Amino acid sequence: MLAARCKLCGSELTSSSRIKSCGCSNRMMVSKDSVTADDLSEVVLLNYKDIVKSNGILTADDLKYQEARRKRRIRKLNFEER
Ligand SMILES: [Zn+2]
Repeated sequence: MLAARCKLCGSELTSSSRIKSCGCSNRMMVSKDSVTADDLSEVVLLNYKDIVKSNGILTADDLKYQEARRKRRIRKLNFEER
């Protein structure tokens, strides 16, 4: 089961056989095995492991990208300290 929260409107949606939409301008939609939104950075994943396993639109590659982005930020901080 997937669960995600839209940061813009605060709606928490869990997956089901029907697609659910949070209803705000970010248009987060949670379907059985995927999460989509206009801006995925405004979406908090509440059930991470299942998303990695799924073949949804938000894939393991997306999660790797988010992780890489976090690492870049850390590297930048280290650089500034030197
Ligand atoms: Zn929303």
